[in-house]
Amino acid sequence: MQYIDEYRDAGLARRLLGEIFRTVRGRWVLMEICGGQTHTIMRYGLDELLPKNIELVHGPGCPVCVTPLETVDKALELAARPEVILTSYGDMLRVPGSATDLFTVKARGGDVRVVYSPTDALKIARQNPDRKVVFLAIGFETTAPANAMAVWQAKREKIGNFSALISHVLVPPAIRALMTSHECRVNGFIAPGHVCTVMGYEEYDSLVRDFRVPIVVGGFEPVDLLEAILMLVRQLEAGEAKAENQYVRSVNYKGNLPAQRIIREVFEIADQKWRGVGVIPNSGLRLREEYAAYDAERIFDLQLLSADEPAECISSQILRGIKKPTDCPAFAVRCTPENPLGAPMVSAEGACAAYYHYRRHAVAG
Ligand code: SF4
Repeated sequence: MQYIDEYRDAGLARRLLGEIFRTVRGRWVLMEICGGQTHTIMRYGLDELLPKNIELVHGPGCPVCVTPLETVDKALELAARPEVILTSYGDMLRVPGSATDLFTVKARGGDVRVVYSPTDALKIARQNPDRKVVFLAIGFETTAPANAMAVWQAKREKIGNFSALISHVLVPPAIRALMTSHECRVNGFIAPGHVCTVMGYEEYDSLVRDFRVPIVVGGFEPVDLLEAILMLVRQLEAGEAKAENQYVRSVNYKGNLPAQRIIREVFEIADQKWRGVGVIPNSGLRLREEYAAYDAERIFDLQLLSADEPAECISSQILRGIKKPTDCPAFAVRCTPENPLGAPMVSAEGACAAYYHYRRHAVAG
């Protein structure tokens, strides 16, 4: 299959690994930002094939994992209201809130519907003019254009019973926050290819300049990731710090300009809370004043919630690359995909789920 087979080619992977072994001298900690990249690393055992002096740690790039508990609780509150149809991507239904999850609310009679895109939610709004349809709009820059377009379209069509509960996060401010933390031990980043398909990688220039840290935009197949690691190692060994692009088949420097325009039209930058990480300045998107009529937070009188994570869940340290899922005492014991304690075990992209699917036997044995 074109664009799949060649990026899973064993011979090519071996050649890249050999080049990494020949190049590396120092000890380097590299972070892949995206949960999809984490899953590829675990699935193909890339971390175990690398030289021992290269350590991979896993970043905060799983949209479900970083959606604040308070947002999940607000969605739960909305879903329990008889006038509301709560629409969401499937992953969010199993994410535990403070007391329950959307699946349980649905089982108790709440009208919760899984959709594949925000335009599906808009369609449900058109079909149900006597109900209030709320779309749980979460994610990184990747989902922001489609979510923005749905809100823009609702305004254009004057669909008054549609709104969005927004929890959008941005990658560059998260890297800045990680690098500013005294606990950070990351020497180089693999930036998420799909985010950069939308945003380009121009905005990483200031990060490499300010922190002298190399950043390589990477894809999601094993050959992509090995090549991105090699590019980082080459920079680190040469004492360089540049923003580079491995994922050239999809990403260019400036990104998708029309997609960026619709994001800017509908959203503005705001401080954002990341689950397990805390508030990061200017790291989120909220609806502009002109679109306030479509903001579920403003339309519904939602309580100001403050929620705590389960005490034994160490996802805050996992999402910042300080610890790994196997360091968590609850991993694969009290916390499993069937009974998740924290979001990184729920989401298909979560680091704990990746370790559970591909490494738990090694840990147990
Ligand atoms: S294994 Fe479960 S409890 Fe532990 S950090 Fe991951 S999600 Fe949290």
